[in-house]
Amino acid sequence: MEALDKSNVKSENRVLRKEVLMAESNAFDFFDFTEEEAEEMAKEISAEGYDRDGRICMCGHPMKRHNEYSGIMSCSPTRLVCPCKKSRPVLDVSDTRVFLRKTRGPGSLHALAQGLLAAGKAGHKVEWLIEHKCDKCGVESKVSPVAVTQHGVVVDEATGYDALLCVKCREGMGIRGE
Ligand SMILES: [Zn+2]
Ligand SMILES: [Zn+2]
Ligand SMILES: [Zn+2]
Repeated sequence: MEALDKSNVKSENRVLRKEVLMAESNAFDFFDFTEEEAEEMAKEISAEGYDRDGRICMCGHPMKRHNEYSGIMSCSPTRLVCPCKKSRPVLDVSDTRVFLRKTRGPGSLHALAQGLLAAGKAGHKVEWLIEHKCDKCGVESKVSPVAVTQHGVVVDEATGYDALLCVKCREGMGIRGE
């Protein structure tokens, strides 16, 4: 009889300890927000610390990857060297690390579009810093990021000059030899 009582006490203790352990592992139950929410914030805080300047240049790369030495611009997002000649912040993002693509053509092939796509997939916050209009004619319409030559001809490879153009301006400027 006595032995039975002892084992009861033992198992009660075990239950009690288990409850304490449970309470320890779920300490966040004390709060009216979840551990996942705190985790999200931790990520944002560390991303901000890493990327204090969240601005993205029109070339599709972080502003902080640009340097200017005696009037000459350089942009090196990774090993890749971008010919960017005039930095222009167009986006503000919560994490710049996905904006490291290479421009392989106009529109969806442009580094800015590919970076934006990656940011969306990763769930990053993105905000446009510029007005929604064509850089050439000023019409308020949907636009495409394009690489252009110094004379404004749309080309497939990064030239160091990028613009957001409406469809009409893209077609007008796209004529070879213009
Ligand atoms: Zn740039
Ligand atoms: Zn660049
Ligand atoms: Zn236009």
